[in-house]
Amino acid sequence: MAREASASCSICREGVCATCGPVLDRREIAVFIVAGLLLLFGILAVYATTWTLAGNLLLLAAAVVSGRDLLKTAAVSLIRFRFSIAVLVAIAAAGAFLIGNPAEGATVLYLYAIAEFLEEYAAGRAERSIASLLHLAPPTARVRRDGTEVTVGVEEVGVGETVIVRPGDIIPLDGVVVAGGSSVDQAAITGESVPVAKGAGDDVYAGTQCIEGYLEVRVTKPVKESTIARVAALVEEAQAHPSPTETFIERFSRYYTPGVILAAAVLMIVPPVAFGVPFLEAIYRALVLLVIACPCALAISTPVSMVSGITTAAHNGVLIKGRDALEAVGRARVMVFDKTGTLTTGRLEVEDVIGFGVPEGEVLAIAASLESRSGHPIAEAIRRRAGREGIVLDEVEEFVSTAGRGVRGRIGGSVYTVGNSAPSSGEWRSVYERLEAEGKTVVLVGTISGVIGLIALSDVIKEEAEATVAALRARGIRTVMLTGDNERVGMAVARRIGIDECYAGLLPEEKVAMVERLMERYGIVVMVGDGVNDAPALARANVGVAMGAIGSDAAIEAADIVVMEDEISRVAYLVALSEKTVSVVRQNVTSAVVVKLGIAALAVLGLVSLWMAVAVGDMGLSLAVIANALRVGRPGGAGRQASGDWPDGRAGR
Ligand code: ADP
Ligand code: MG
Repeated sequence: MAREASASCSICREGVCATCGPVLDRREIAVFIVAGLLLLFGILAVYATTWTLAGNLLLLAAAVVSGRDLLKTAAVSLIRFRFSIAVLVAIAAAGAFLIGNPAEGATVLYLYAIAEFLEEYAAGRAERSIASLLHLAPPTARVRRDGTEVTVGVEEVGVGETVIVRPGDIIPLDGVVVAGGSSVDQAAITGESVPVAKGAGDDVYAGTQCIEGYLEVRVTKPVKESTIARVAALVEEAQAHPSPTETFIERFSRYYTPGVILAAAVLMIVPPVAFGVPFLEAIYRALVLLVIACPCALAISTPVSMVSGITTAAHNGVLIKGRDALEAVGRARVMVFDKTGTLTTGRLEVEDVIGFGVPEGEVLAIAASLESRSGHPIAEAIRRRAGREGIVLDEVEEFVSTAGRGVRGRIGGSVYTVGNSAPSSGEWRSVYERLEAEGKTVVLVGTISGVIGLIALSDVIKEEAEATVAALRARGIRTVMLTGDNERVGMAVARRIGIDECYAGLLPEEKVAMVERLMERYGIVVMVGDGVNDAPALARANVGVAMGAIGSDAAIEAADIVVMEDEISRVAYLVALSEKTVSVVRQNVTSAVVVKLGIAALAVLGLVSLWMAVAVGDMGLSLAVIANALRVGRPGGAGRQASGDWPDGRAGR
């Protein structure tokens, strides 16, 4: 997996480094030392002694040793008639030898090999830290089998078995707590280092750490399907998909390399013919141009920045599933939020129950019975209230649930509905409007013939919602809220939070249509929702962000970007990170182009030597671009909104 960024840079390293790893191994060091010594003695022999032939042979050996991978790749490319960067460098080195400049020819190959290696190493660093996500989960687990505790490899633990987790242990597999209790540090997955209390019935995840208590966990997923493994797999996949900028650079290079060769040919012929420049000198300048033209720095600039951004985000509990998503967020000017469960906690409370010709208890009993099969936050609130009042639920038949509308079913001989569709107008209307005016979500409980009751619920706005919207505005991002709830509640929430635009009373398909309209009006649209109720709108938007997705595989699957923790401030973090990534990419591409053009101009005038071209125009530039890209993952600029700590690795460890 550590090969993604390099694999995507097809121009630079197509095949060059297919087998060598980014980790410095002994063999590689030995090769560098041997080649370096050959080069040194060769240069000494040629310039400081009279053993020119021996010196030339030493330099040839140095060239072959340090350029062996590159020369192989160049040969393969030429056979397939593809002009890769390897071809450019090989031509330049061979040319230097042919025109009697073996010291420079060998130096070019040597420096190039070192540059190549350093790039690999730096790029690999970002990727390896994704692999480190996986290593957070321990390789073994303590399982209770036949009454005794045995330690076995995590692959051998079956779903349904019970694992024992002691204080300080990292939980080995995803599961449900069946006994014991502890606070658990979930930073590995959520990026949030404040521990969460876990007791019987709570979900726990592989890679998270049991702090002080003892837990018995019934395993619910095999190790390969654990949340952390999926996150790592998805991030890995994301790193492999090029973003639009990268695709552009790759396409550009296809015409670029042959173009450069043509330009070099012109430079070799025109000055001697037109201006009387010595022929060998003209060839030399053309070779310098070939080296300068190496688009390595350009090609590597974007993937490294992207990988750096994606990796940092993953360590902060934000799973970005594609480089294009990261780039799109950085460019978006509008952010669309779903209301319930995204800007509000979604933990509704029943405030009022009102009956029309029916006792309140019966209204609640009918509603709770119907809602017993729905997973909507409204349903949960109604069930909870009924539970508190000790109401016994009735059997429901012919149950139907309609997204954005409500539920219907038959109890005994009659059909009832709970939701927002009103069969007719009636005495309930004024009460309904009064409750709505209080900012409550009101659902109607009805029969075929009319409304028999109202249930009013209140939701709580998330603490961070207002600050997040303000932070987005400060970045010039317009905020829009979509809700299936009524207009009055919607507007009240939007005003409180400071949302710019609000559209209420929308059915799920109308939310999708709204997202489409916003895309027409504003270009790139990022939609933030809970990922379950809002899946269609998330899918339709340019980028769908699912909040609080930990524990919901469906949400992790559905969205382009997944925020593990249900913490709205992470959205502002995500935007800051994306903007920083996009700006680093821009800086890298611009500076690479400017420096290359500058050096190329000097080369045409004969002011740059071959080895300088490699050291500055290729190696130096590539390294500068990589160093800049790694900045994305460092503190400053894109710091976390809520808690100030920016983990290069993870918070709190
Ligand atoms: P939001 O856009 O705020 O997330 P939804 O689209 O999930 O809201 O639901 C919109 C409206 O549909 C709710 O305000 C409610 O009136 C009605 N509704 C949806 N599901 C249910 C349910 N299970 N019980 C009662 N009403 C429901
Ligand atoms: Mg919703």
